[in-house]
Amino acid sequence: MNNELRELYQQVILDHNKSPRNYKKLETATNSSEGKNPLCGDHIHLYVKMNNDVVEDISFEGNGCAISKSSASLMTSIVKGKTKAEAEQLFEKFHDLVTGKISEDEDLTDLGKLAVFQGVREFPVRVKCASLAWHTLHSALKDENKIVTTE
Ligand code: ZN
Repeated sequence: MNNELRELYQQVILDHNKSPRNYKKLETATNSSEGKNPLCGDHIHLYVKMNNDVVEDISFEGNGCAISKSSASLMTSIVKGKTKAEAEQLFEKFHDLVTGKISEDEDLTDLGKLAVFQGVREFPVRVKCASLAWHTLHSALKDENKIVTTE
């Protein structure tokens, strides 16, 4: 990771950890799910309000490390207003990014600030923290009634 990216990565994570976006319980949720990353102790509840095929509103609550919290904050910001298929596509791309399956030359503009999470690929344990919110979203969109765990 170059210095510029490292700095941006730290800024984004600190900012979203300190003031997470969409951090509340969503009373009007149509779908919800719960995710756990026992390795780190991250735990989130995700609330989604679907309108036909569109994520009309989304929020989360939980406890965890700065990476899991900032990732959930950014994830909820980016998938709001997206269709289910678009959200799943972003999940795949994000997963490829943090697991190092995407080259650094690839166009990451659709991921917005989430692109800084390519920084976690240097820390395999952190990949689970970064992707917890996304696995939980995947489950919520499928409306499964189970707890997602990264283990
Ligand atoms: Zn964590």
